[in-house]
Amino acid sequence: MFFRDVNLDGRRVDLRVDGDLIGAIGEVGSVDGRGLPALQGGMITAPTAEPHVHLDAALLGVRAPNHSGTLREGIRNWAALRDGLTRQDVLDRARTVVGWYRRHGTLRIRTHVDTGCPVAVHALLELREALAGEVELQVVAFPQEGILRRPGLREGWEDAVACGCDAVGAIPHFERTTEEGWQSVRLAYDLAEKYRKKVDFHCDETDDPGSRNLEVVCAEAIDRGFGGRVVAGHCTALHSYPNPYAAKVCELVATSGVQVVANPLDNVVLQGRYDAYPKRRGVTRVDALWAAGATVGIGHDSVIDPWYPLGTANLLDAAYMLVHVAHLTSTDEMGRVFRTLSEENHLPFGDVPRIAAGEKATFLWYAAADPIEALRTREQPRVYVRGGQI
Ligand SMILES: [Zn+2]
Repeated sequence: MFFRDVNLDGRRVDLRVDGDLIGAIGEVGSVDGRGLPALQGGMITAPTAEPHVHLDAALLGVRAPNHSGTLREGIRNWAALRDGLTRQDVLDRARTVVGWYRRHGTLRIRTHVDTGCPVAVHALLELREALAGEVELQVVAFPQEGILRRPGLREGWEDAVACGCDAVGAIPHFERTTEEGWQSVRLAYDLAEKYRKKVDFHCDETDDPGSRNLEVVCAEAIDRGFGGRVVAGHCTALHSYPNPYAAKVCELVATSGVQVVANPLDNVVLQGRYDAYPKRRGVTRVDALWAAGATVGIGHDSVIDPWYPLGTANLLDAAYMLVHVAHLTSTDEMGRVFRTLSEENHLPFGDVPRIAAGEKATFLWYAAADPIEALRTREQPRVYVRGGQI
């Protein structure tokens, strides 16, 4: 295969695939592609990665529509549905959505699973094994209702981690008190240390500027040496913090190595629900985090679930929403948002795939000429090459 005059990270290059490897990349005209089937123009990126979705609840939004549009009604609706779920139902819905992700070139997916639903925990762990070699699925043990709000929650959460989840989750802002929220953060780290797992928090998903768990997540990451193994999802309270405090927290995030994952599709509709006009956008401060040197990811979060009635599993939709609500519409900012999907979004899985001569030939080819056109059209990649195979 030969790709002639394609956009690779802003450079115009020719790229030749030899067997399962990238044989050569060079300036246009410098790579020999005679006699090979060729594509002209467009853009090449690594496959994209999804750092934050809830496959256990995906496609359930039609069974329990969220009339108020609030996070709390979403949690209530989910709690009412989940006890009736069967293994097959969870598997069928999750497989459907994984298929949608694959069509968009997303081969790594980190899903949260509610540890209050053991059926879903086991189903998604089973799916992880069934998909191995095709899609890398990571499962986060996520206690949707907290771990300290009532007896039994903590045990279910610990059981899910013991059963083999990849990361320990928590939802500190949803615990009963500020102090119990902080305690839940520390318990999550304790459990992760015990089982040598990563941690991935639903952190401060509220407009309340008094919700201050992110600083604890970061301080514990530093003190325990967790660095790059911590994700803090949502962090929407950061949007509403007083500016001097927000500046301190952004610096702390950068110092700690904690990755913040923004989920703009859900948060632009779930946040601001207690506001009269003007209504806050409720998406974390991506520009300030970048400026502080922090690592940011972008998640789709929901696909037609009790929290969000829409969704396509196309990460370009999440990126498109983010550039709007976070005012990231300069050429450089849109380029960075687009690159996040195929670069920083891989960090929760360990490594960021490289496109270079000698590497495995695994990449996406978009007909779009550049990141701005890709965001504008949000068309799926036309060609997906994996280990040299289309
Ligand atoms: Zn979530």
